[in-house]
Amino acid sequence: QPVIKVAIAGYGNLGRGAQAAINQSPDMKLVGVFSRRDPASVTLIDNSVPVYSMDDIAQYKDEIDVLILCGGSKSDLPEQGPKLAGLFNIVDSFDTHAKIPEYFESLDTPAKQAGKVALLSVGWDPGLFSINRLYGEAILPVGETYTFWGKGLSQGHSDAVRRVDGVKSGVQYTLPSESAMERVRSGEQPTLSTREKHTRECYVVLEDGADEETVRNAIVTMPDYFADYDTTVHFIDQQTFDRDHQKMPHGGFVIRSGVSGTENEKNNQTIEFSLKLGSNPEFTSSVLVAYARAVHKMNLAGETGAKTVFDVAPGLLSPKSPAQLRKELL
Ligand code: NDP
Repeated sequence: QPVIKVAIAGYGNLGRGAQAAINQSPDMKLVGVFSRRDPASVTLIDNSVPVYSMDDIAQYKDEIDVLILCGGSKSDLPEQGPKLAGLFNIVDSFDTHAKIPEYFESLDTPAKQAGKVALLSVGWDPGLFSINRLYGEAILPVGETYTFWGKGLSQGHSDAVRRVDGVKSGVQYTLPSESAMERVRSGEQPTLSTREKHTRECYVVLEDGADEETVRNAIVTMPDYFADYDTTVHFIDQQTFDRDHQKMPHGGFVIRSGVSGTENEKNNQTIEFSLKLGSNPEFTSSVLVAYARAVHKMNLAGETGAKTVFDVAPGLLSPKSPAQLRKELL
């Protein structure tokens, strides 16, 4: 089986995770990392490949089967995606849900003109969660779909905690509300507001002399961020903080609660998909790498243009042949 030549564009959390995931994939070979920064200033998790300047990327057009875009969704991908889609097969994790339709259009034309595939919004949400929302709706058309996030580190809320007077270090985790999930799992199909679905948990190290109750009160009553939620604040020492709160965990649940049968004889049916991620970026880039394999196969089969996870047949994600998959996994 020929090895798929991949490269990484943008080297932050996802870029590092993508390199690690490619190292775990024997059918793939990383040929290089591209960065907008001075290549000499970029330190890779291992030095098995060179770092190149993003300015020179067009020179490598014929040496890369798939380029994995690891830039940020806010400003990097909207600028880089359309340019790179005109040169390479690409895959990215664009996660600004409301802007996916326009981002799709911006990739479709250059990718079609270049005869390449541009697969956007791959990861877990959007990505694996989107597929599970689709399965739920298609299989149980009478029902409701619920998405819960967490336990996950929220950057914006952690910043807000750290701005409170008396806080030396702080993080905030968003948790799915157990009671809301139980109602959903019971088949009740409740109408839940965002704030009913999630609770918030903070871990705080106090400055010397700061008062616990004052800090707790300032956090739990903070408008927009915490006032409308059930918020718990835990006070810990710096050593515990450094040991237990440096990772980027995340995850969540997609639950479809539906009914089948007839009006007189209904049965509740529940589909549940969940993720518990020790590292959000390492998982997201593992999804990107599996989909990079699919992009390569789709382009070899003659497909071009912008695509999403809805357009990718599951078998294409696997390094195994269709015959092997039928035998081992079906
Ligand atoms: P980072 O901020 O770590 O990296 C983004 C870019 O910033 C990099 O590509 C890199 O570009 C640049 N950069 C990284 N480190 C530095 C540095 N030290 N100094 C200067 N520039 C730097 O973002 P993440 O990798 O954590 O996330 C990327 C995107 O992934 C997010 O915006 C998010 O939207 C998306 N995502 C999607 C998920 C999904 O499920 N679909 C889940 C999680 C994230 P360069 O090398 O060119 O300088």
